[in-house]
Amino acid sequence: MGAAEHGEYPPELSKEEEKYLLNTLKDWSIAHGLAVRPAPTFVQQSQDPTGVLASTAPVTLFPSLFPRSCFEEGLAIQKAYNELYSAIARDETWLQSIVEELLDIDDFVAKLWQIHLAVKKEGYVQNLSLGIFRSDYMVHKDPSRPDSTPGLKQVEFNTIASSFGGLSSQVSALHKYLLTVDAYSASMSSPIKADNLRQSKSAKSLAKGLAVAHNAYGTSRTARPLCVLFVVQDPERNVFDQRHLEYALLEENGVRSFRLPFGETLSHTKLDSDRTLVYTPPNSPSTPFEVTTIYFRAGYSPDDYPKEEDWTARLHLEKSRAIKCPSILTHLAGCKKVQQVLATPHSPHLQRFLPEFEVAARVLATFAPIYPLDNSEAGREARKLAADPASASRYVLKPQREGGGNNIYRKAIPPFLEKLPKTHWPAYILMEMIEPPQLKNAILRNGELQRGGVICELGVYGVSLWRDGGGAEQKGEILESFEAGYLLRTKGDQSEEGGVAAGFGAVDSCCLV
Ligand code: ADP
Ligand code: MG
Ligand code: MG
Repeated sequence: MGAAEHGEYPPELSKEEEKYLLNTLKDWSIAHGLAVRPAPTFVQQSQDPTGVLASTAPVTLFPSLFPRSCFEEGLAIQKAYNELYSAIARDETWLQSIVEELLDIDDFVAKLWQIHLAVKKEGYVQNLSLGIFRSDYMVHKDPSRPDSTPGLKQVEFNTIASSFGGLSSQVSALHKYLLTVDAYSASMSSPIKADNLRQSKSAKSLAKGLAVAHNAYGTSRTARPLCVLFVVQDPERNVFDQRHLEYALLEENGVRSFRLPFGETLSHTKLDSDRTLVYTPPNSPSTPFEVTTIYFRAGYSPDDYPKEEDWTARLHLEKSRAIKCPSILTHLAGCKKVQQVLATPHSPHLQRFLPEFEVAARVLATFAPIYPLDNSEAGREARKLAADPASASRYVLKPQREGGGNNIYRKAIPPFLEKLPKTHWPAYILMEMIEPPQLKNAILRNGELQRGGVICELGVYGVSLWRDGGGAEQKGEILESFEAGYLLRTKGDQSEEGGVAAGFGAVDSCCLV
């Protein structure tokens, strides 16, 4: 059944019912850590000088309707995506050919690559890598075939700091709890029924992924207690999302972890002579820990590196014996340029990494067309499309950046390119806009209720632990790989961007139809 058959969705509530629902939702959210630190524009620092306040995370009031077949396909192909990106990260030769095109025109990518080269020169001492991935999709329906079944198209693939796994588990639990509110699913034809809701297992699964790496590290070389290190931004509004993973790591796996602001790396960690990474918690200087696994929730944006010392810190961590999530090569595998090279129509590259034809075909079916803006034939064609306002409105222009707020959309592309020297155009990729079906929902953010048209983005998490084969040509092997739950993010249909942390979207869960 499609969304249209459900009549009015979400259900119309009376003022009284809405008030009751909002109260229920707000209390549940705070009681279960479906929360963020308040925005500085919302609560000034002088009102909360010791940082004790939290507010409800932006959430949808109702689970959004999502096609069951698309949801199931997204989860089913995640292991193939794990295999694909683990293989890319193990294939230094191939990655180098991609990164080389960016070195002179993208300083951030160049600096990451230099770190890889510096560590390679000394020799890597850890051959295990952990990937915590999130493959993001929108539902797409071919506009020329209105009767066709909807399919998933990939927005992007994240290999670093894939966030919201903690809050996603909570929002799906919230929507299930709200079934206890009569007005929520009062009508017989309402799709909001326990059978149609999907609990996301992301918090537990991602924690399990960290535990898998922690256990694969082996015993301490220094007779110190072992720990996982969460390398984080400071301040971090989305701290509770990360805390859910820390708590699950401890409670379900018995693994100790610490939070280290990225900018304090060099003051709290050191490398032993064999490059074992030792972390000294500021509150117990006499008990240093040996770090098995570094989980980066920072370091993906140039803003995380305000001082030259921050680059020294990234090098220091990469050099260490700890398992990195992600390694520099895995971080680089997540470049938008890699997605473009795989997804440019008639690209031969996918086969290299996914030799099984049927597996590759299912992954390929999720690619939307993406083009380079370089001097290749496809690139020259794309340059024309991007520079012309008539055609540019079907595209989004993306630089090699993460974390939201970096893209240029539709009509803004031609004037943007006009100001950009032609030599720098290849630092961007041009992607066809996916046009998902318009749905309706209500979003509660910063205490305000926004009702209206929304667009949903499904993220599927994947965990992969692999052994590198010594650089070239994807030798090595995958030791563990699993699908690790989902995220649904929903934004108002007026916004091109969808980032929850960037201030545009809300966390949501799927009501399968
Ligand atoms: P980032 O790594 O910064 O999250 P994304 O590629 O995910 O970059 O783009 C940010 C947002 O822009 C997405 O969450 C989505 O809302 C929108 N977006 C990106 N690419 C497309 C596309 N091809 N079609 C429609 N929306 C897109
Ligand atoms: Mg994104
Ligand atoms: Mg991203």
